[in-house]
Amino acid sequence: MLQDVLLNDEERKLKQEVREFVKNEVPSDLLKKMDRDEITYPKEFVEALGKRNLLGLRFSKKYGGRGLPWTAEIAAHEEIGVLGMALGCAFAMPSIVGEALHGFASEELKEKFLKPMLKGELVSAEALTEPRGGSDFFGATTVAKLDGDHFMVKGQKRFVVAASGADFFVVYCKTNPEGNPRERISLILIEADREGVEAKHLYNLLGTRGGGTGRLIFKDVRVPASNLIGQLNQGALIFNSMMVPERLTSAGGALGLARAALEVATRYSNRRYTFGRKIRDYQAISFKVADGITQLDAARAITHAAGKAADEGLTSARRLVSEAKKFATDMCWEVCNQSMRIIGGIGYTNVFPIEKMVRDSRLAQIWTGTNEIMSLLIQHEYYKELLNDPNPPRISEEDAEESHLEDEKVYEDDEMWTKGW
Ligand SMILES: Cc1cc2nc3c(=O)[nH]c(=O)nc-3n(C[C@H](O)[C@H](O)[C@H](O)COP(=O)(O)OP(=O)(O)OC[C@H]3O[C@@H](n4cnc5c(N)ncnc54)[C@H](O)[C@@H]3O)c2cc1C
Repeated sequence: MLQDVLLNDEERKLKQEVREFVKNEVPSDLLKKMDRDEITYPKEFVEALGKRNLLGLRFSKKYGGRGLPWTAEIAAHEEIGVLGMALGCAFAMPSIVGEALHGFASEELKEKFLKPMLKGELVSAEALTEPRGGSDFFGATTVAKLDGDHFMVKGQKRFVVAASGADFFVVYCKTNPEGNPRERISLILIEADREGVEAKHLYNLLGTRGGGTGRLIFKDVRVPASNLIGQLNQGALIFNSMMVPERLTSAGGALGLARAALEVATRYSNRRYTFGRKIRDYQAISFKVADGITQLDAARAITHAAGKAADEGLTSARRLVSEAKKFATDMCWEVCNQSMRIIGGIGYTNVFPIEKMVRDSRLAQIWTGTNEIMSLLIQHEYYKELLNDPNPPRISEEDAEESHLEDEKVYEDDEMWTKGW
């Protein structure tokens, strides 16, 4: 297994621990009820993870984490990802919200929210996206006005997982509307039971159901100034930090879901006969299996590399984390679809879970920053790295036979295109 190369002993042990939990302690019935929207939020699942000290694995032991590196958390998340996107998200949220609390919040907020969250006693949610758009984070319109010892918060967020189910939200609000975009926003913790907080609409989703995804409305909500996370107008800094767990957990969960789909399809192909032969004997089938496991291993490698880069605080982490999110979630969608093709018509029914996996997997390409936004970040970082490299490697352009023909190397546009005929 690729993980034997990627993980150390401690990480392999953790992976096994989570694998046992997923195998023995999460009833199928929970997944089915969630997919039927009979459960609004899987609180018991979060409690069970908390009891086993499996939430926020990266955070210091002082606050209830295990002080492990990203590579360990990714390995654990692959195991949880087998259960589908909604339970994967329930596992991920303390890691995402915890990033803000652990790195930026006051001791008071850490005691009151981070510690109980990592024990599974409090459920958290993050509210970035607004009806007017999710990709343009800096355009947030939810406003928080500081007035003495409290903020008055007014606005709306949508597509918030656990809008129904969370005990508290971390909400990005505009606190400095006239400031430049990077100094305009703050992150404020808002308890779900504050007056004026309303979870209005729970969406009918294609997949990833049972996670309480809804719209949040803040109608002049009075919030103590001490609920501010980090400094006033420092939201952009916290956002950049939170994007690492957002994207690495999306990638980690996608590894597990793709693996689960491929395992179902591969086992099926070893049992199913057509024309007197097992379908795995047809290259049309077995090569899909080969492509699936190759893509999965490639996604694992890039996700673990991104985790290592994040652990070591490398400047390349920003590009690698975006690459991992995009590559692993695209891989997951592709592998789930190919798994459906492997098993044929029965794959389109709910006799097998692949149809649910296909529905779940589509979301991973959208949330935590769409894969188009990942491309935007990746190309931006790559141009910057390449064009500003103070010590570039060999310039291969000069290896062409006629590279000396400088007259043929025309880069400028003709004036007629820029100025017209
Ligand atoms: C089920 C579900 C759960 C979610 N959970 C949460 C949550 O818990 N908390 C939260 O805050 N948000 C959550 N989201 C929101 C999610 O992160 C956003 O939907 C996503 O970021 C896209 O924002 P948008 O839907 O407003 O699309 P838009 O931002 O309107 O984008 C529309 C399209 O335009 C493309 N696009 C936009 N700008 C560019 C650009 N500059 N270059 C190229 N393409 C571009 C996008 O890729 C997309 O294809 C969730 C969404 C869903 C569906």
